[in-house]
Amino acid sequence: MKCPFCKSELKSGKTVLTFQMGSNRILVVKDVPALICEQCGEESIDIETSKNVEKLVHKALSDGISMGFIEYTSAA
Ligand SMILES: [Zn+2]
Repeated sequence: MKCPFCKSELKSGKTVLTFQMGSNRILVVKDVPALICEQCGEESIDIETSKNVEKLVHKALSDGISMGFIEYTSAA
């Protein structure tokens, strides 16, 4: 897979996604699998992964967590 911006090769790695909801709710999802461009730093996350991330964030919010780190897991 190639980077849509600079056409360099994307490498699989891990990234961190930050979700801010309102002024006082910040959730950080760690260890999210992503394809990362070594050239420009563009990160590409597939649909399946982003759906899982969304579920994790929603679960954390419904558990009453409004700030903190969540470790990514595909089993969410
Ligand atoms: Zn790139």
